[in-house]
Amino acid sequence: MTKYLFPSFLTTGLVLGLIVLSCSSCEKKDSLEDPPQEETPDLTHLPLGDPLILRRDQGDKNPLLQHLWLCGVPQNGAGNDDASDWTNADGTWDYTRKPQVGGNVVWISEFEVTLDGNGNRIITGNALPSHPTGVFPITPGSLPYKYDGNPNIITAHDVLYILPAIPEIAPKPSCVTFGPSGISLSGSAIYHGASTLGNDAAAHEMLDRFGGHTDGTETYHYHFPAQDLQDHIHPHTSGHSALMGYMLDGFGIYGPYGEQGELLTSKDLDECHGHTHPVLWDGQMIELYHYHWTYDFPYNIGCFKGTPQ
Ligand SMILES: [Zn+2]
Ligand SMILES: [Zn+2]
Repeated sequence: MTKYLFPSFLTTGLVLGLIVLSCSSCEKKDSLEDPPQEETPDLTHLPLGDPLILRRDQGDKNPLLQHLWLCGVPQNGAGNDDASDWTNADGTWDYTRKPQVGGNVVWISEFEVTLDGNGNRIITGNALPSHPTGVFPITPGSLPYKYDGNPNIITAHDVLYILPAIPEIAPKPSCVTFGPSGISLSGSAIYHGASTLGNDAAAHEMLDRFGGHTDGTETYHYHFPAQDLQDHIHPHTSGHSALMGYMLDGFGIYGPYGEQGELLTSKDLDECHGHTHPVLWDGQMIELYHYHWTYDFPYNIGCFKGTPQ
């Protein structure tokens, strides 16, 4: 095969070279005709979220753009507090250098979303993901174990959320507590961006290739919009990302692409990490507030824009 590919590569290179040479005056026209390229994130330089965590219990009375507004942090937190091995000189962190929890553990997931016709969305399930996970507890002796000896298993939990089918923005946003902040369409919990140690969970804790891990409540949950998670729920082709889950105030959370297919960052979103424009909601385009997963902190929610369950 290589024998045939090599000449075709050469030919392609020659043709491209000729186009570049013969088209120096028509660059603008060409770029207008090019199909849009999907923007990809620079996973090697992600801002570290540690300074962007606000705590209401320590006097932070309001949410702030690009921050996570926590109600508080539990005592007896556990996990990894040293991200220096994948932190760059400029203080950003490198997702590609951070160890990942390996494995391929398959679960029997139950997950159902129904509308009851009375204005409620009923979500039921067993909290197990519809994709394989890494091996938890983290295997002693493995590289991730060196940083995070997460000793917890993953177990099933009864899920029952009764959320407003069309949520409304509350008069004031609310701070975010520990435990589930939402539920992913893959059946498992979405946790906010902080660890129980009060640092950036995605940057510190050892996650599997779907951006998830487990905790002391034995609940598998996500902290990062890993490509495998996005592709598992709905591969992105163009335009606005598809729905990836529901936060506990009933608003949806979508993948990291905006209306024009542009890659969003927290700078594009409000203090709760969302915005309002027409989105596909239960089969119809309606103008509705929604959250986005982004590759930068706080990754999913900054505060609850609606009224959390
Ligand atoms: Zn976690
Ligand atoms: Zn949007």
